[in-house]
Amino acid sequence: MSLNPHRPWRNITRRPSRQIWVGKVPVGGDAPISVQTMTNTITSDVTATLGQVLRAADVGADIVRVSVPDEDATRALKEICRESPVPIVADIHFHYKRAIEAAEAGAACLRINPGNIGDESRVREVIKAAKDHGCSMRIGVNAGSLEKHLLDKYGEPCPEAMLESGLDHIKILQDNDFHEFKISVKASDVFLAAAAYTALAEATDAPIHLGITEAGGLMAGTVKSAVGLGNLLWAGIGDTIRVSLSADPVEEVKVGYEILKSLGLRTRGVQIISCPSCARQGFDVIKTVDALEKRLEHIKTPMSLSIIGCVVNGPGEALMTDIGFTGGGAGSGMVYLAGKQSHRLSNEQMIDEIVRMVEDRAAQIAAEEQAAE
Ligand code: SF4
Repeated sequence: MSLNPHRPWRNITRRPSRQIWVGKVPVGGDAPISVQTMTNTITSDVTATLGQVLRAADVGADIVRVSVPDEDATRALKEICRESPVPIVADIHFHYKRAIEAAEAGAACLRINPGNIGDESRVREVIKAAKDHGCSMRIGVNAGSLEKHLLDKYGEPCPEAMLESGLDHIKILQDNDFHEFKISVKASDVFLAAAAYTALAEATDAPIHLGITEAGGLMAGTVKSAVGLGNLLWAGIGDTIRVSLSADPVEEVKVGYEILKSLGLRTRGVQIISCPSCARQGFDVIKTVDALEKRLEHIKTPMSLSIIGCVVNGPGEALMTDIGFTGGGAGSGMVYLAGKQSHRLSNEQMIDEIVRMVEDRAAQIAAEEQAAE
């Protein structure tokens, strides 16, 4: 991300990391921070799993992870990988054969901890399969499943134990001359996750996959993820993220994007700036924003839109957004384009007209981009 010389207080300096590839998606280095999610269907149900992958990709998922607990799953993976518009990560725990099958089936990345799959010969077989099929790997340390010897050594899951686990797994891959990996050290406790990730960021230049694991339901998990991931991203740590929610994977992707958007790390679709509304509002702000969020979901072009109830904050917010609407006046409000007053709109026409203006502007930006190519 380029630094902003005029507003240095907005700058985030990302931690330098190596770049790897998850299929066609670069992770680390100067690549945009990618957004991931994970399916929660039975993987062998190809229709259901692929349906979920497609819906997640449609709202912006760059990468989707799929569990492969058994042979039925790795068989289904072949078709899922072939049909998916985004790279698929195969999630493997202890069965090294599933990892080899997943690599053969076209997975772009294996989520696997090499220290958990048995002896050196098995590790070598998995690494060979990954190399042969162009797979990267993700080491996924989790506070809830740390190795017994580390729990014995440290007494409980702690940042030091998580870091040691991660570095042990890294060493196995490096000793086998495998360097296409990223790493995560997830915990459901934000303090533990933040401390572990901060230590990891110091200790390795591998790209980092961020996540607060088992964060909870849509509301609580969103807040927890925003606090935990937001803190790390703000400090420049993190090359790819997954928000873990007990909710539809589509929601995980949307929340992931919102976290990145709020820090200016990525843009996608319409970012709506709206006031909470009060007795001064010239129209029903809450209902309007709710309707606009739904009707503008299909817009992928980055754009900002301010929907403000009255002139107290409306003109000021409109200065910083592409399109603005400020309430006030008898049943009508003012439209702003690029910060300048444009025309008045009645409250009744407002939603339809704003949707039309956003769609027109998105088409115009797309045409300009095409002409510049
Ligand atoms: S912008 Fe106006 S309507 Fe919105 S909260 Fe502030 S004073 Fe109230």
